[in-house]
Amino acid sequence: MRGTVLYAPRDIRVEERTKPTIQAPTDAIIRISAACVCGSDLWPYRGIEPIEGPTPMGHEYVGVVEEIGSDVRNIKVGDFVVGSFMASDNTCPICQAGYQSRCVHVEYVGAGGAQAEYLRVPLADGTLVATPGRPDEDLIPSLLAASDVLGTGWFGAVAAEAGSGKTVAVVGDGAVGLLAVLAARQLGAERIIAMRAKVKELTGGLGAHSVIEAAGPQESMMQAIRSTRPGGHVGYVGWAHGVELPGQELFYAEVHVLGGPAPVRRFLPELLGLIWNREIDPGRVFDLELPLDQAAEGYRAMDERRAIKSLLRP
Ligand SMILES: [Zn+2]
Repeated sequence: MRGTVLYAPRDIRVEERTKPTIQAPTDAIIRISAACVCGSDLWPYRGIEPIEGPTPMGHEYVGVVEEIGSDVRNIKVGDFVVGSFMASDNTCPICQAGYQSRCVHVEYVGAGGAQAEYLRVPLADGTLVATPGRPDEDLIPSLLAASDVLGTGWFGAVAAEAGSGKTVAVVGDGAVGLLAVLAARQLGAERIIAMRAKVKELTGGLGAHSVIEAAGPQESMMQAIRSTRPGGHVGYVGWAHGVELPGQELFYAEVHVLGGPAPVRRFLPELLGLIWNREIDPGRVFDLELPLDQAAEGYRAMDERRAIKSLLRP
């Protein structure tokens, strides 16, 4: 099968790879309908996150179940499915509490590389959610967005306790930041400030109730904390790189801070419902669509900020 492999900074290739097979009775193999390039893929692409040898890429996926292991019960061959980038059993105490991305049996689905024709998904029953039927073609980008970027923006908004009557600020203007705005609006936020503005000025010197950090570097994290009013909530979902929090500033900020790899699985049933009923259209975040074989251009366009997010079709 064809799949993307990162060899070195800015050296991404689409090449022939071994088609994945069932390795555990809880696995499923899916035929990818669409995958995409994540902002977090740019960290290794730019050489900031080191890689150990050629690395299959991609962790966002939708597709059709082609094969299941003998213990899979909830997912059937032929189902159209969406899954999180973190495989989870969805039954352990951590999953039950809604933190499936830290499941006691967690596995990184992206290890197999979702920017490919096929993908092995571990813990299929706990990880995958089937849509009610085959989606219309125009729904596929939105369903794909639910796999990570929407689920992550949504978690940021929930962690920041965005909701009715709240002023919400969003740090980071990439795909996750844009969908965090969508999430905050959907959750009923009274006012949403995309973070070019001076948040303190716009909130009578108080700071926002809820601030979503959707970028990852130190300055974004500090901007998020400093823009939050005492008693307010920071939800941080940017992949933290080089972030160190000064204890004393954090002490006096007196804010709630919750973040991490988004437990996307918690939100998938609700998000798929909203997409299926066409109440939200997060697929608009994709502003470049390419065949899988042109994945290198998808990465380049995002690296050069010519594209917000690239969708790849095997
Ligand atoms: Zn679990």
